[in-house]
Amino acid sequence: MALPARHHTRSRVNKRRSHTALELFNLVKCSHCGEMIPPHQVCPVCGYYKEKETIDVFKGLTKKERKNKQKEIEKGK
Ligand SMILES: [Zn+2]
Repeated sequence: MALPARHHTRSRVNKRRSHTALELFNLVKCSHCGEMIPPHQVCPVCGYYKEKETIDVFKGLTKKERKNKQKEIEKGK
């Protein structure tokens, strides 16, 4: 089995691992509904991107689900 030629100090190991932590990803406010969303992506709540409706978020929803979704979009405004 391979054996390390030199002992690595705790300091050296910790310094190497100082770069391994995960960073928080960025969020921006949706210009249409005000929900916090990842940048450069269509808003999953209202379906808008750059002030234009790009996907129909009400498609395939029941009347009750539609009502709740509409409420969610209105809430952020
Ligand atoms: Zn939105």
